[in-house]
Amino acid sequence: MSLNETEILNIFKKTEALLEGHFLLTSGRHSSVYFQCAKVLQYPEYTEKICRIIYEHFKDRKIDTVIAPAIGGIVVGQEVARQLNKRFIFAEREDKSLSLRRGFSLKEGEKVLVCEDVVTTGGSVFEVIDIVKKCGAEVVGAGFIVDRSNGKVQFGVPQMSTIKMDVVSFPPEECELCKQGIPFVKPGSKKIL
Ligand code: ZN
Repeated sequence: MSLNETEILNIFKKTEALLEGHFLLTSGRHSSVYFQCAKVLQYPEYTEKICRIIYEHFKDRKIDTVIAPAIGGIVVGQEVARQLNKRFIFAEREDKSLSLRRGFSLKEGEKVLVCEDVVTTGGSVFEVIDIVKKCGAEVVGAGFIVDRSNGKVQFGVPQMSTIKMDVVSFPPEECELCKQGIPFVKPGSKKIL
């Protein structure tokens, strides 16, 4: 049986992928929540359970190959491909744009599923879809663990996420937590919680 959203959130909290507090994000904005998907993907057991939702969603589509943007998407794409028992490749950033390296290629007409861990603006997924199309292959869908755009980013292909989260952040001068004098932390730079 697939996990529901509450069970997914519980896994995120248990693995400290989802933190609550007062955070300075890399964008310079402040937020009361911080999400780091890699923290949950540390655990194969959870990766398998969460990726199974993506697998279940697309398993009846004809898929030849799964592709993901490096680095975040690799673990998700690999696991979904493993469950589908299909080939997995990834695109990686060289200079500024994503490309297929390491001898990876797609054939004309090949049916491809795009996977990603977290979609915020969707930039990497748009780039990967572009790579697939330039190869003459067909994007049959896109699956992600988290849609942080809350459904606002649309890729023009069948898409799904295991959970949607709204990105709520503020410029420091508008941050309520700062006004309350609560010190903020920069995630990743020191121990949080
Ligand atoms: Zn603040």
